[in-house]
Amino acid sequence: MFRLSLAATSMALLAACGQPVQQTPAPEAAAPPAAAAPAEGQVLNIYSARHYDSDKALYAKFEADTGIKVNVRESGAPELLETMKAEGEASPADVIIMADAGALYRFQSEGFTQAVRSDALEAAIPAQLREKDGHWFGLAKRARVIVYDPQLLPAEEVDTYADLAEDRLKGELCVRSSTNIYNLSLLGEFISRNGSEAAEAWAKGVASNFARPPEGGDTAQIEAVAAGQCAAAIVNHYYWVRLATGTTEERMTAAKTSVSFPDQNETGTHINITGAAVSSTSRSPELAVRFIEYLATPEGQTMLTSETKEYPIVAGAPNPEGLEILPGFKQSDFPLTELGPNQAEAQAIFDRAGWN
Ligand code: FE
Repeated sequence: MFRLSLAATSMALLAACGQPVQQTPAPEAAAPPAAAAPAEGQVLNIYSARHYDSDKALYAKFEADTGIKVNVRESGAPELLETMKAEGEASPADVIIMADAGALYRFQSEGFTQAVRSDALEAAIPAQLREKDGHWFGLAKRARVIVYDPQLLPAEEVDTYADLAEDRLKGELCVRSSTNIYNLSLLGEFISRNGSEAAEAWAKGVASNFARPPEGGDTAQIEAVAAGQCAAAIVNHYYWVRLATGTTEERMTAAKTSVSFPDQNETGTHINITGAAVSSTSRSPELAVRFIEYLATPEGQTMLTSETKEYPIVAGAPNPEGLEILPGFKQSDFPLTELGPNQAEAQAIFDRAGWN
């Protein structure tokens, strides 16, 4: 009964949103012989850009609790998008899991997500952190912070994003490539808040302060600060927390640096999400929603963040071990659903600014 009504709800919703209804079988055809506990033989296919052992444990727990077999394809976001383009409507994907709302937007804009309604998800996840029509849902949160060398810079010189464009930081900054989605989303919020001209001036200012051409991921930027190659870097908070709670060598690296949550006296630090979408090609959207709802339970949240050191977003879910070393902070209230449309302009601005 449960499954049947969910399927019917999904279909009604798809129709209401004007979405082409994917080959969702007629309710009679979809109904299990004797509707009760989840039947053997139900399968959920997940395409994930994450690669953590804790996720494997999470999938195993969901399988054990529900009897639903979980298949996972893990790859980079661009590779998974190309895979879905090649597979087209035949793609077996049911759930798409991505880091950064900007990455989810790419799947959405290519037509690979579908709008779904879930009272549980809408109640558990703040509207700021999910797509307005239900195309994707934020499930864990990350902050884009400034890591700096406190021996070289006083905290007040790196307490806003605007500081990073100041002449006094000439030759002092490290940051990864502008093609990375984290930087595109950061600039995307800047464009919406301050306009394109101010965004370009900021990007040019930051690029003119680079200590070296962008190279490596966020962890490499922290290591460069610790090694004295630059005085400050822009990174996601969890890379620093992982070092600060890691091996002796990693902890020594983190200990040479401090973390600044920018714009505390202004609009707050840029935040983003790890999130999930129901694939437009899914033959089992009701199972896909059920899985995403599991990720939004306290247990799902704990398994999703224990290794990554992201912030849970559901009330009542405890922070993962290690996050207590960071202070509480004011986060930007910018709605992440509005980031995507700025992505192309953000890349054009970075290109003009010489932020490779
Ligand atoms: Fe990351």
